[in-house]
Amino acid sequence: MSERFNVADIFGENVFNDTIMKERLPKNVYKNLKLTMEGVQELSLADADVIANAMKDWAIEKGATHYTHWFQPLTGTTAEKHDSFISAPKSDGKVLMEFSGKELIKGEPDASSFPSGGLRATFEARGYTAWDCTSPAFVREGAQGATLCIPTAFCSYTGEALDQKTPLLRSMDAINEQALRILRLMGNTTSKKVTPSVGAEQEYFIVDREKYLQRKDLIFSGRTLFGAMPPKGQELDDHYFGSIRERIAAFMKDVNEELWKLGVSAKTQHNEVAPAQHELAPIYAQCNIATDNNQLMMEVMKKVAYRHGLVCLLHEKPFAGVNGSGKHNNWSITTDDGINMLDPGKTPHENFQFLLVLGAIMKAVDKHADLLRESASDVGNDHRLGANEAPPAIISMFLGEQLEDVVMQLIDKGDATSSIQKGKLKTGASTLPDLNKDATDRNRTSPFAFTGNKFEFRMVGSSDSIAPANVVLNTIVAESFKEIADELEGSEDMQMAVHDMIKKLFTDHHRVVFNGNGYSDEWVAEAERRGLPNIKSMVEAVGSLVKPETVKMFEGFGVFTEAELKSRAEIKYEAYSKAINIEAKTMIDMAGKEIIPAIISYTTELANSVLSVKEAGADASVQADILTEVSGYLKEMKAASAKLAETVATAATFEGKAQAEYFRDTVKVAMDELRAPVDKAEMIVDKEFWPFPSYSELLFEV
Ligand code: ADP
Ligand code: MG
Repeated sequence: MSERFNVADIFGENVFNDTIMKERLPKNVYKNLKLTMEGVQELSLADADVIANAMKDWAIEKGATHYTHWFQPLTGTTAEKHDSFISAPKSDGKVLMEFSGKELIKGEPDASSFPSGGLRATFEARGYTAWDCTSPAFVREGAQGATLCIPTAFCSYTGEALDQKTPLLRSMDAINEQALRILRLMGNTTSKKVTPSVGAEQEYFIVDREKYLQRKDLIFSGRTLFGAMPPKGQELDDHYFGSIRERIAAFMKDVNEELWKLGVSAKTQHNEVAPAQHELAPIYAQCNIATDNNQLMMEVMKKVAYRHGLVCLLHEKPFAGVNGSGKHNNWSITTDDGINMLDPGKTPHENFQFLLVLGAIMKAVDKHADLLRESASDVGNDHRLGANEAPPAIISMFLGEQLEDVVMQLIDKGDATSSIQKGKLKTGASTLPDLNKDATDRNRTSPFAFTGNKFEFRMVGSSDSIAPANVVLNTIVAESFKEIADELEGSEDMQMAVHDMIKKLFTDHHRVVFNGNGYSDEWVAEAERRGLPNIKSMVEAVGSLVKPETVKMFEGFGVFTEAELKSRAEIKYEAYSKAINIEAKTMIDMAGKEIIPAIISYTTELANSVLSVKEAGADASVQADILTEVSGYLKEMKAASAKLAETVATAATFEGKAQAEYFRDTVKVAMDELRAPVDKAEMIVDKEFWPFPSYSELLFEV
């Protein structure tokens, strides 16, 4: 039996949280830090020195030898550079452990190796990390010992954002300011701050590490580039919510324990739809903290999997033919005094504040559907969005029966006078209790679904940072709020003005609402009729980042400058091209060095068998047929591999958007052409000859 522990005892034990700060900081320093966290004042260097020192002492007690500024550059993962606490040796040869306020507040990693999308030339390498004091520092344990990690934002010498965090914090300021204006309009004079709350449900696959190491495609690209479907897929639905296998359970237990120590509230875990697929969800938190926590969750899952002889695959589509992985981004906006502005209450038709907020969000999502779609685009996610699983690529909004009814009353009759009430669910067995039903059933196919008191944005990819999606959500809703507040402030009859505004918002933007099956072909046609964009690829989506309306909005709220947006677009095109380039080259390598030689060995043996069987005077026609079929595939794959190599060479002659488009339209097609004969051959070639583990072995033998 493994060691038992009490979750409450270990939760947050490696976090420099509020309790620790209160305990260890002088009263006035603690108070000043709190004011900085609320955005009221800047932190003085003297206070920073005191905090740094307290942090260092605490971290050293936890065994830390190093500290690092922990940041989120535009590579999709986190970055860190470790410095030990030791000072230069004194004359007696001894060292002290030091950590100054300056080192806490500001770091200076060499920025030249991180993507900047042309924001700075390599000779201008300076970049700065700045402490995000609203996200707590933590001590992380690993093979290298313990390290004090300080969550930071990362900017260039000229102050441009080079990371995910900076625009996220800026967007939180934007929505705070505009949401407060809406609250004031509605007569709220007490709330002081509005913060987006986010809970990100993380999906992932687990495979055996030994098997993983035999597949170059998994190693280099995170997904299988070849692989025939196993006889059994997910058609039985027996994995979803099924009981969790022992080996996975042991992994999950360790993941939870590590996350709890880091103050990440890992809460819900279950098997997902596909075999070997699972999900972990934390309890929601303030947007930037949720973003940090999600990064930590991904890191911890990978690390713990390694320790268990497993590998955690975060790619959006590790296996063709079975469901991919996403990240549901649950989003709401909450005041400092605990009001969730997305809570409809029991009678939404009477809740004008909620309806106004709902109308504002409806407008934002309708107006900036392309941008929202873009925020969830990454290379791997192109395999999911619009591919008849997970959400379609068309942005629409699900309201559910109750809200849809209220909205339609307002649109059709000008007034809403009732709300459909939730009923009782009759279980039909006398020993079972009757259950209270939710007012609204769930809809699994909507990309942006209202789920009780939050919106669930389901498009984000499993490997992606949730920051871009939340930057967009926060900013587009801030814009909507601003436009509403600009129009309504100073109205003589506020109640009437609000009523008319709600009706107008619903009427103008109801086209984005869709409560039906988002996977159906009818919806694609219907969405087109409604004029909703259907953006099928990441490369196509990126353009929305630099549209004049987008630039105007982001600049208006100080979230992005035009230069920053252009750089992000460049980085995305480049990331796309690089990823497909790696995939294509891996395929050529695997085909040439592993698959083709294996098939040659197999066909040689088969040919010998045909000869011996014939010599013995028996019928060798079946063997001969197989030999002909496999040899045909061999020929196809040789030609397809040569053609793929040609397209890869041509791709190198382009750059930027044109290059990304070439990879999407030409290289990817050539990749499919190579995969097809290989997958067909895999179905008939003797298993003993196949050079790497099959889908069955990867998915069912964990
Ligand atoms: P489901 O999506 O299956 O209904 P939950 O209700 O447990 O699952 O919520 C999923 C995620 O949404 C969790 O991370 C949860 O903490 C988060 N969540 C719940 N309420 C809110 C809210 N008001 N704002 C943001 N996230 C929320
Ligand atoms: Mg959910």
